[in-house]
Amino acid sequence: MPFTANRQFKAAPRLLASARGMYYRSHDGREILDGCAGLWCVNAGHCRDEIVAAVKSASEELDFAPTFQMGHPLAFKAAAEVAKMMPAGLDRIFFVNSGSEAVDTALKIALAYHRARGEAQRTRLIGRERGYHGVGFGGISVGGIAPNRKTFSGSLLGNVDHLPHTHDLEHNAFSKGQPAWGAHLADELERLVALHDASTIAAVIVEPVAGSTGVLIPPQGYLQRLREICTKHGILLIFDEVITGFGRLGHATASEHFGVTPDLITLAKAINNAAVPMGAVAASTSVHDTIVQGGTPGAIELFHGYTYSAHPVASAAAIATLELYRKEQLFERARDLAPAFQQAAHALADAPYVKDIRNLGLVAGIELESRPGAPGARAYEAFVKCFEAGVLVRYTGDILAFSPPLIISEEQIGRIFDTVRQALSTIQ
Ligand code: PMP
Repeated sequence: MPFTANRQFKAAPRLLASARGMYYRSHDGREILDGCAGLWCVNAGHCRDEIVAAVKSASEELDFAPTFQMGHPLAFKAAAEVAKMMPAGLDRIFFVNSGSEAVDTALKIALAYHRARGEAQRTRLIGRERGYHGVGFGGISVGGIAPNRKTFSGSLLGNVDHLPHTHDLEHNAFSKGQPAWGAHLADELERLVALHDASTIAAVIVEPVAGSTGVLIPPQGYLQRLREICTKHGILLIFDEVITGFGRLGHATASEHFGVTPDLITLAKAINNAAVPMGAVAASTSVHDTIVQGGTPGAIELFHGYTYSAHPVASAAAIATLELYRKEQLFERARDLAPAFQQAAHALADAPYVKDIRNLGLVAGIELESRPGAPGARAYEAFVKCFEAGVLVRYTGDILAFSPPLIISEEQIGRIFDTVRQALSTIQ
């Protein structure tokens, strides 16, 4: 099973049999309040009628259309709808089927862009410690999670460097929203430029808010500084918005929330409410035009694509989902709920083992003191206790992560954190 302790799971399997709105139902018939939007992806809530209907009708109308040298109307409509939600200028969409594929696609686009400009020597990629960019070889190479890398260490991409992560509890513990300290960590990029020379560097990729490694919120001014340095040196900036895209921070993108526009954005998950696998890369017009106009007429300009890119059913789900986000003003709702969410999360500051709490928009992390000799065990046990008590939370290392659907109520927010407090008081 994916990212699962298989033997442990087999001993006590947790199975989800159905879902509706804010709730899952487990195979033994219990209602489970979803504190994670599945895996940071079901932002409109589960099994929404509008999306189900779109999936059904697309499946009946056009099950599949070949994507190479062919197209279909739903793909272009979905691209236009995604583009409308992107920051101005990022209006070119390449569809894929997952976040991992979006990352590898964005890295390839960056290389193709520099090559088309006559700078083929710009091949160095820069990621960040504690970055998670999926599980493709590109993603684990620029990613900064040791267990994700070490099994495959001999096969990672060369020519990759990492910026330091921005998680510093000495300065930033219990910050609400963006920490005040740490913007200077972006200057490490200048150090890498000085070391390698800008003419060798293709792109920098970061998650605006790192999710899977424990909800790391960027310090104030940090992303702006990265943008400035990239622009100064002609380096493309990629924001991996697989988690932050489509409302998590109260805007369509984290880029919009922070007022920082990258050259490429990777998307997946909430792009179609996770109803059907789908991801995308949004590229700036200039990156797109450089590659497409730089190619030979009649030849394939970007030698890349997937059989299921812009699958008709996934595209239909995306169109229906984006319409739902707009109609129900779910991003605004996330923004409105953020203060209550912040308050409820930080109310656990005095709960057992709590070492840090951090939050932004509708995402929060609670970091626990690790049990000596058993890192991750406490958070795992808290996760199990919460599940038994009818609340789904996520854990990563010894950090509990929260990212509910944007349709959550204040009362449900309260229930999630109350359940966590209760769970923490019953573990050792
Ligand atoms: N990038 C980020 C920032 C992610 O959080 C994830 C998944 N959690 C991915 C990429 C990979 O997405 P997928 O699992 O769909 O391949």
